[in-house]
Amino acid sequence: MSRAYGIIGWPLGHTMSPALHNWGFTELGIDAQYWAWPLETKDLPEFMERVRTEPILGLSVTIPHKRTVMAHLDRISDRARAIGAVNTVYWDGDVLCGENTDVIGVVAPLRSLDSMPDSAIVLGAGGAARAAVAGFLELGIPRVAVSNRTLSKAETLAAEFEVECVPWDKRMDGDWELVCNTTPLGMSGDLQGVSPWDEDRFARGAVAYDIVYNPLETRFLAEAGAAGCRTVSGLEMFLHQGLAQFRLWTGQNMDEAGARRLLLSALGS
Ligand code: NAP
Repeated sequence: MSRAYGIIGWPLGHTMSPALHNWGFTELGIDAQYWAWPLETKDLPEFMERVRTEPILGLSVTIPHKRTVMAHLDRISDRARAIGAVNTVYWDGDVLCGENTDVIGVVAPLRSLDSMPDSAIVLGAGGAARAAVAGFLELGIPRVAVSNRTLSKAETLAAEFEVECVPWDKRMDGDWELVCNTTPLGMSGDLQGVSPWDEDRFARGAVAYDIVYNPLETRFLAEAGAAGCRTVSGLEMFLHQGLAQFRLWTGQNMDEAGARRLLLSALGS
């Protein structure tokens, strides 16, 4: 029987993860299958028993299980513990482990910049913002701030990570070298065409990073590019969190360029 991997979440809408990992298994000749497992909160304990008994060799974990899955694991990485969320479950021998590859995904595209920004503002204070703040601190960016529509959530996140908190209506006032959108503003649907940043407030040479990847070029990225910013699309975060999961599960590297082409074509269709 081929080895089983998959994603758990509820509701589990369309996800590109099965296409990505199944492509990787095929390319590398690994006899494995990655499934989509919609899973309600009440069914998590029983499912995690299945993971141990069947066994299931790896999981991607998404909302609402990223925090609650931790109680069912034997070991949790410092990174996942620091942000209080696991998005990847894997086996290390007979030890069931949890990691957060969203953080790895956020920082990976920034590592290839010629120079690291000295300051970063994260827009939003949800799960993705936590990964971004943790990632930017991991990169050693000296000044990190968070700004959110609901101030209290930004204050809580900022206090937890000991970073600055900027009121939402003041977010564009500073000279930020990296602006990272982790809100759904700009996403396809009702919010497409909306940007969290005014087009005349981008600083030339700054980095604009949108973790929204559908559409690939959001209004935020289009306007930042036109203003002379370097731009990073959310597809890069998605790609790199997935590549990191695949490495944890198989010990092998998926071909990065081929995986990017696959995702680009999935988004284009
Ligand atoms: P979340 O936990 O629900 O947080 C959403 C954040 O966006 C909150 O801070 C919320 O502010 C803010 N927000 C929502 N609507 C807003 C609006 N109309 N105006 C201003 N702020 C608004 O969600 P999440 O898990 O962090 O995900 C956020 C986005 O990241 C989603 O679009 C998701 O698809 C994307 N994402 C991408 C990747 C990737 O691999 N590229 C990975 C994870 C997530 P309030 O606190 O005021 O409600």
